[in-house]
Amino acid sequence: MAEVTDPATTNDSGVPAPSDEYSLTVGAGGPTVLHDHYLVQKIQHFNRERVPERVVHAKGGGAHGFFEVTTDVTGLTKASFLAKVGKRTPIFARFSTVAGEQGYADTVRDPRGFALKFYTDQGNFDLVGNNTPVFFVRDASKFQDFIHSQKRMPDTGLRSNDMQWDFWTLSPESAHQVTILMSDRGTPRTWRNMNGYGSHTFSWVNAGGERFWIKYHFKTAQGIENLTSSEAKAIAAEDPDFHRRDLFEHIARGEAPEWRLEVQVMPFADAESYHFNPFDLTKVWPHRDYPAIEVGRMVLDRNPENFFAEVEQAGFSPANLVPGTGLSPDRMLMGRIFSYHDTHLHRIGPNYEQLPINAPKVQVHSYNKDAPMAYHHAGKQPVYAPNSYGGPRADPELAADLGWHVPGGDLGRYAQELHAEDDDFGQAGTLVRDVMSGADREHLANNIVEHAGDHVSDAVLDRVIAYWTQVDRALGHRVAVGLGKSQPT
Ligand code: NDP
Repeated sequence: MAEVTDPATTNDSGVPAPSDEYSLTVGAGGPTVLHDHYLVQKIQHFNRERVPERVVHAKGGGAHGFFEVTTDVTGLTKASFLAKVGKRTPIFARFSTVAGEQGYADTVRDPRGFALKFYTDQGNFDLVGNNTPVFFVRDASKFQDFIHSQKRMPDTGLRSNDMQWDFWTLSPESAHQVTILMSDRGTPRTWRNMNGYGSHTFSWVNAGGERFWIKYHFKTAQGIENLTSSEAKAIAAEDPDFHRRDLFEHIARGEAPEWRLEVQVMPFADAESYHFNPFDLTKVWPHRDYPAIEVGRMVLDRNPENFFAEVEQAGFSPANLVPGTGLSPDRMLMGRIFSYHDTHLHRIGPNYEQLPINAPKVQVHSYNKDAPMAYHHAGKQPVYAPNSYGGPRADPELAADLGWHVPGGDLGRYAQELHAEDDDFGQAGTLVRDVMSGADREHLANNIVEHAGDHVSDAVLDRVIAYWTQVDRALGHRVAVGLGKSQPT
């Protein structure tokens, strides 16, 4: 067996370190001297070793893998990474809770982030989704208030169920997502056992210029498995890092988890006359209207070598769209397009996209330059456009923005454009009545009662019962009985 020789410690400049144990002092009992540069460097670096944690999705874990195309979708998109059956694209995935901070327990009731970075041959494509197909609010201007209501009270620094139910019951558009959150899907057994959804409506355009509205669904090959509320609480006490550990250990053992990507495809013209607004993030598209078609598979088969470098510093942004893929008029998506890049600029720095975990696998030919920690640069490339000295030139044909018709109107703050059957409670009611099993409904009612029964004021509780009665009268009744209150007629 080869002899293991530990390397000599160095400082950050690579110079051999004087000691792993003793600082430089005047005699054995004397003071430490300021010119012990090695000690000073250790203290200074330690004091700076955290970047700000994410305001949301702070606690997570991630893994590398690949995406492989299994179906010819070239009739729907010209995206190069989807151009050929069998084509593989490296990816990085990060899963997370939403409201908890770093160190929070993995199994608490919360949606789970499902963020993907595809390192395609046309630059990075990021799909920054959740494990639910819908969301609590439909307008980006309510997002910050929503998150504040799920985080901590300003005075006590404690989380508050009263604050959560106060916000939800005053925001009826939350009903669909809260129904899923309060079901056992709010406590997935592992990250491997949950689906991922792009959630928003996105768009694709094919080589002929034909456009489609798209919903992305990643279906777990491991099968959906959830925890009951009491199982989730027991695991939180035993092993707060349960989900992070589960993913890492399975991949380390060679048990690579897999998901099947399916899309729902809506012809562009359908959107205007569809019976509800298809860009509303609180709604799904029923499968009977737009059946899902398989596109490919995603496999996670390699753990990060370093958590901080690859998971903590990973920066995803739904603005990262490659040719052939695009946005939709979803108001939450539009807010997120700005928000993600902005938060990484603050959290990691203006050159966060130069870090290996974020860097595209293609050449970058940008006119952005310099800023702290600039590493990649374009040498003596001209720093302005247009120029006559060989700098890059935008090719609008290559990157055509995937637009849509916007009817004229006066600038103002409007409620979402109404379609015939827009309502806040319908799909939540369908889920409860037509999709859930009897056991699912019982767990849902119990989970609501358990959560709303914990330090929620009487005035808010009355609204809680009215809220669930509007989702489903029988469910509202169970919640009222469970909370020892009467149900409104
Ligand atoms: P379908 O019967 O065709 O689809 C129902 C879908 O619900 C399933 O495909 C499954 O999707 C998901 N599901 C199954 N059990 C549960 C559960 N206990 N909690 C949450 N979701 C569950 O009907 P529709 O397409 O008409 O949708 C009916 C309702 O199903 C919707 O109002 C929505 O609440 C829910 N749903 C619909 C989805 C869609 O994209 N159409 C996606 C997810 C939920 P999956 O395998 O993706 O989990």
